[in-house]
Amino acid sequence: MTSTQLVVVGGGPGGYAAAFLAADLGLRVVLVDPEANPGGVCVYRGCIPSKALLHVANLVSESRHAKAWGIEFGEPRIDLAKLRDFKNGVVSRLTTGTGQLVKHRKVQYLQGFAEIVDAHSLTVKLTAGSEEQVQFEHAILATGSGPAIPGPLKLPGDNDPRVMDSTTALDLPDIPKSLLVVGGGYIGLELGTVYAALGSAVTVVEMTPGLLPGADRDLVDVLAKRITRTFKTVLLETRVVQMAAEAKGIRVGFEGKADQKDEVFDRVLVAVGRRPNSGIPGLGRTRVRVDERGFIVVDEQRRTHEPSIFAIGDVAGEPMLAHKASHEGRVAVEVIVGEDVAFAPRAIPAVVFTDPELAWAGLTEAQAAKESRAIAVAKFPWGASGRAITLDRTDGLTKLVIDPDTERLLGVGLVGPGAGELIAEGVLAIEMGATATDLKLSIHPHPTLTETLMESAEVFFGQATHVYRPRRQKEKAQK
Ligand code: FAD
Ligand code: NAD
Repeated sequence: MTSTQLVVVGGGPGGYAAAFLAADLGLRVVLVDPEANPGGVCVYRGCIPSKALLHVANLVSESRHAKAWGIEFGEPRIDLAKLRDFKNGVVSRLTTGTGQLVKHRKVQYLQGFAEIVDAHSLTVKLTAGSEEQVQFEHAILATGSGPAIPGPLKLPGDNDPRVMDSTTALDLPDIPKSLLVVGGGYIGLELGTVYAALGSAVTVVEMTPGLLPGADRDLVDVLAKRITRTFKTVLLETRVVQMAAEAKGIRVGFEGKADQKDEVFDRVLVAVGRRPNSGIPGLGRTRVRVDERGFIVVDEQRRTHEPSIFAIGDVAGEPMLAHKASHEGRVAVEVIVGEDVAFAPRAIPAVVFTDPELAWAGLTEAQAAKESRAIAVAKFPWGASGRAITLDRTDGLTKLVIDPDTERLLGVGLVGPGAGELIAEGVLAIEMGATATDLKLSIHPHPTLTETLMESAEVFFGQATHVYRPRRQKEKAQK
C-alpha cells in the first residue's frame, strides 16, 4: 500500500509534465503507466517517431529537388531496417531521458495499469505481475486516446496486418507499392508523406470536400497543390464502405465522388480520428462524468465532477495535441497546490508536419465566418520572400487575422517549409495581445521566413516592402 499526495494515471506528455511539476513543487507523486518509462502515445507511437520519419522523408524529397539546382544524387537506396533503428533510437533516447527525470525528481513510477477503487484509492496491476494499492489525496487522469476504427473499416472477423493503424504504420513493416490512406487529416497526410517519399504510390480518401477540414482553405490549397504531385491520388467526398482481404491485396469499396468504386491496395492505413481512453476500469465508482463523445468532462481548472480527481490531455477533450496536454497538466497541478489559475489559452498552435508544413493558431478565418465576426485578413505570399526564393520553396503563405477595430492579432495561419517553427511567434504575439503595429515594428532578421510575419502586418497597413497592396486590406475591413 502506497499513500501519496498525487497520483497521475498515464505517462504521456500530459501525465509526465504534471507529475514532474508536482514533484518540483514539493508534492509526493506516483506516476502510473504500462511502459517502462514515461512518454505515452506521443513519444512511443505518435509525435516523435512520426517526426523522425518525416525528417527522413524531407531529406529524400529535397535530394530529388536538388536536381533542379544542378546536383544529382540519384534515386535513394532505402535500408528499412536501419531507418527503423534510427526511429526506434530516437524514441528510446527520449524515453530513457524521461526515465532519468523520474528518478532525479523522486517520482514513484509504477509500471502497470490503474483501476480506480474509489475517489481516493486505486489499484495498479503491475506489469511485473503483482498489485499495488495507492491511496491518494488527488488524482490526475491522463490516459490519452487510441485510434478510432469504425465498422466499415474493419475487416470482417480478420486481423490482416495489411490494414494498419498509425502504430503499425510507424513500424514500417515494408514499403508497399500501393497504399490507401483512409482519412485526409493529420495522421493520414503525415504518414502518407512518409510512405510517398519512400516510394509508395499513395492514395488518400477523405469523406469531406477538402483535406484537413479544420484548417483555412487558402492554406490547405497550397499543401493540396503539392500533394497532388507527390501522392498518386486524392479522393475527396468519398468514403470507404467495405474492405475485403484478397491474396493480392486489400480490396476496398468506395462510395461518393470517386470514379472507381473498387480498387485493390497492397496496404491500407486507417486514420479517421482518435477516441479518448475514458473507459478506465472503476471510473464508474466515482462521480467523474464522461460526455457523449467519450471525453471526461472537466471545468477550466481541469477538475472533474469528483473533487479529488482531475483530467487532462486527449481524454479531457480536443484538440488532441501533446502541447495542449502538457499545458493542462501544469494547470491542474497548480490548481491542486492552491494557485488561482485556469486553462484559458488564446491560442493553441496546430501544426501538420507535411511538406510543406501547415500551421495555425488562434482564430481562423473559417471560425470567424462561422461566428459572423468582423475581421481583417492580411496575407503575404512566399513568392515575395527573399528567403523562400533562396530555398526554392515559394509554395508558402503567411496570413494574419486581425481585429479591425483594435488592430489586435487574433489568429495566424502559415503554410510552407518550417511553418511549424514559425507559428510560435504568432502564438506569443496573440497571447501577449500584440497589435499589427507591434508585429510591423519588431525588426525581423533578414533573410528569414520570419519576415513574412512582419510583412503580413505591413500588408495590413498597405505598406509592405515586397508586395504592392495599397491599403486595400484595411479599407476593406473598415467598410
Ligand atoms: P497519451 O500520450 O495518449 O498517454 C496516455 C498514457 O496513458 C499511455 O501511455 C497509456 O498507455 C496510459 N494509460 C491509459 N490508460 C491507463 C491506465 N488505466 N493506467 C495506466 N496508464 C494508462 N500531437 C502533437 O502535438 N504533435 C504531433 O506531432 C503529434 N503527432 C502525432 C502522431 C501520431 C501518429 C499520433 C497517433 C498522435 C500524434 N499527436 C501529436 C497527438 C499526441 O500524441 C497526443 O495528443 C498526446 O500524446 C496526448 O497526450 P496525453 O498525455 O493526453 O496521452
Ligand atoms: P483527424 O481528425 O485529424 O483526421 C481524420 C480525417 O478523416 C478527417 O479529415 C475526417 O473527415 C476523415 N474521415 C473520417 N471518417 C472517414 C471515413 N470513413 N472515410 C474517409 N475519411 C474519413 O484524425 P487523425 O488523422 O486520425 O489524427 C487524430 C488526432 O491526432 C488529430 O486530430 C490530432 O489531434 C492528433 N495528431 C496530431 C498531429 C500533429 O499535431 N502534427 C499529428 C498526428 C495526429
